[in-house]
Amino acid sequence: MDFRLTPEQQTFRAEVRAFIQERLPDDIRQRLRNGHPARKEDVVRFQRILHERGWAAPHWPKKFGGADLGQAERLILQEEIQRAPAPMPAIFNVVMLGPLLLRYGTEAQCTHFLPKLANADLWFCQGFSEPGSGSDLASLRTSARREGDEYVVNGQKIWTSSAHQADWMFCLVRTEQAARKQDGITFLLIDMKTPGLTVRPIVSIDHAHHLNEVFFDNVRVPVANLVGEEGKGWACAKFLLGNERTGIANVSYCRERLEHARHLARTITQAGRPLAEDPVLQAELAALDAQVRALEVTNWRMLLAPGTALAGESFASVLKLKGTEIQQALVALIARLAGPTGLERRPGDGPGSEHWAAPAAPRYFQSRAASIYGGSSEIQKDILAKAALG
Ligand SMILES: Cc1cc2nc3c(=O)[nH]c(=O)nc-3n(C[C@H](O)[C@H](O)[C@H](O)COP(=O)(O)OP(=O)(O)OC[C@H]3O[C@@H](n4cnc5c(N)ncnc54)[C@H](O)[C@@H]3O)c2cc1C
Repeated sequence: MDFRLTPEQQTFRAEVRAFIQERLPDDIRQRLRNGHPARKEDVVRFQRILHERGWAAPHWPKKFGGADLGQAERLILQEEIQRAPAPMPAIFNVVMLGPLLLRYGTEAQCTHFLPKLANADLWFCQGFSEPGSGSDLASLRTSARREGDEYVVNGQKIWTSSAHQADWMFCLVRTEQAARKQDGITFLLIDMKTPGLTVRPIVSIDHAHHLNEVFFDNVRVPVANLVGEEGKGWACAKFLLGNERTGIANVSYCRERLEHARHLARTITQAGRPLAEDPVLQAELAALDAQVRALEVTNWRMLLAPGTALAGESFASVLKLKGTEIQQALVALIARLAGPTGLERRPGDGPGSEHWAAPAAPRYFQSRAASIYGGSSEIQKDILAKAALG
């Protein structure tokens, strides 16, 4: 949608659309259109294509591999990538850690890591949650003891997405038992190959391996990998979580899934007639369209009018809450359209399968997690209630 775009921004949109049309590999487009999640190799491949144009991390400064683009251009890029559909650049690299290093990192950390993050030469995972410390993240207990120019880390993380594929982890550890639990938390970058670090898989309800437990047994981390100040990691965590929540809303992914559901309704027939002729389904699609449109407008409104009532953290929470609800409704609708076909296993099913119904049930199950990760829906409602009611 074009919401008060300038002529330059409209030209930019056309340029991005043409670029993606020409450069997005067909196998990736097809896999995503069929509803499969992007694989790591898909993300890396397309991120590098975008990076050739400076568009992998468009909002970063040019000297670190970005394009110095404004928020509107960044959003246009995101809309076009998700509309294609193409994989978004690695969220941990580009949306979360990169901006954090730009704000809190040293010049040496920026010079070393940012170009590698932009080109997906390094793959990061996020080590925040622990058993017993999810919503109440500040209660985390994984400890780091300073010994000379190293920290010695002990403890455990859980639900660490793609830790088994990651080269590095950005991690919250406790360096001090302070009176206020938010104090004494420190933000470290940890090489996943460091001795003493073990990754154990967790297979989720969609039968896939996205998640892991990570154990630290006297893991030695150079002090040079400290981001910001020791004991002040909570500020980093809050900054990073705001960025994560906005990303999880996947506004244009919702639009793309809605168009896909419409396409399925037109092509699947029942008793010789397309499902799209069913007035109940038509009403459901129309209601979802209105919700997706409201999400799109909210996204643009907040971007173009910063400083309004829902700025900052509340903005991220509105998008996360509504975006995940709409994603779940769309994925559930597609699973219903697939019907029993979505439950059958055919030879060749899995990430390479061409059959659109193959991922319908796993995606349905996986989508339930969207209202948990990045801060649960209840936590988002708490944040909004505090912002609205004081
Ligand atoms: C698929 C998936 C991927 C994830 N990836 C990562 C990752 O890469 N890195 C990482 O660090 N973490 C990750 N997580 C962890 C995620 O951030 C936590 O699961 C989440 O923060 C919730 O914490 P918890 O699981 O400990 O649940 P709890 O905090 O124990 O919550 C349990 C229930 O209680 C509710 N609740 C808790 N506190 C309140 C409150 N104050 N008010 C009202 N209700 C409340 C919650 O909403 C929830 O329904 C992932 C989780 C999932 C499911």
